[in-house]
Amino acid sequence: RIVVVGSLNLDRTYSLGRLPREGESLHATGHEVASGGKGANQAVAASLLGADVRLVGAVGADAAGTLLLDAVAASGVDVTGVRRRPDGSTGEAVIFVDDDGQNLIVISPGANATVAADDVATVDADWVLSGFEIPDEAVIAAAHHAHAADARFVLNPSPFRLIPDALRHAVDVMVVNEHELVEALGAAVDSSSDAELQQARASLSVPQLVVTLGAAGAAAVSGSGVFRAPGRAVTAVDTSGAGDAFTGALVARLAAGDALEAATVFATQVGAHAATRPGTQSSYPTSAELDRWLQG
Ligand code: ADP
Repeated sequence: RIVVVGSLNLDRTYSLGRLPREGESLHATGHEVASGGKGANQAVAASLLGADVRLVGAVGADAAGTLLLDAVAASGVDVTGVRRRPDGSTGEAVIFVDDDGQNLIVISPGANATVAADDVATVDADWVLSGFEIPDEAVIAAAHHAHAADARFVLNPSPFRLIPDALRHAVDVMVVNEHELVEALGAAVDSSSDAELQQARASLSVPQLVVTLGAAGAAAVSGSGVFRAPGRAVTAVDTSGAGDAFTGALVARLAAGDALEAATVFATQVGAHAATRPGTQSSYPTSAELDRWLQG
């Protein structure tokens, strides 16, 4: 079983001809509300692919909280570990997207900021996945519970902030995109160089490092070398949530017993699928949908 300790956000997406300038009011041409947040996205991605997933996090006692819990549960995720804060509001992401697909995102963390060490009960987990849309305290607790339970701990330090030492040393697998890798290292890195990726893994002192490379796929870096999973050539429609689809799929396959390399190949396919469909969770495939898409 996989336990995801992470965020849930109500995504409010406004379509605009162009992004607003300072002091300006614009009329949106479209408005959509959807279930999002990195933790929820990753949990849904893994669950749709057949993994047994529990999500730990927090929402408010408002209508948005109900919408998120229902949506995530409908994808098969166990949401009994998601606390409802009677006096808190549900996290929200306000997303402006222009006609060219450029975006501006503002996140109001709401209840996500209240996830505390006490909320993190990762009983029965073989794999624990966490990220940075919740406080350090909760992520560190997730890592500690993972180790106490002899489970593996996967960290997706996104959106990036400094990785506390208490966390870094507990990581079994770190998943980052190219921007996060540069921020984590505090230096530029040429991700086309195997030597530089191996050096990055050593500097971060993690046993296994997976770097997503957008349309170019992903690289899995471990003691046995650098393995590259090429990107699948697709017509990208909306890449939002592709990274979360990738991470959820990766952990689903690792939990099913795949080696890092095989899990990375699988995850790039799921990430590519997500890029070909609008939205985040709505762009994630079940195993059957993925098989049909890969054959088609
Ligand atoms: P993030 O969304 O976190 O910035 P990436 O852009 O690296 O992460 O995308 C994550 C994964 O999604 C990639 O490893 C790849 O599998 C898939 N992906 C993203 N964009 C594309 C694309 N344009 N074509 C094919 N696959 C893509």
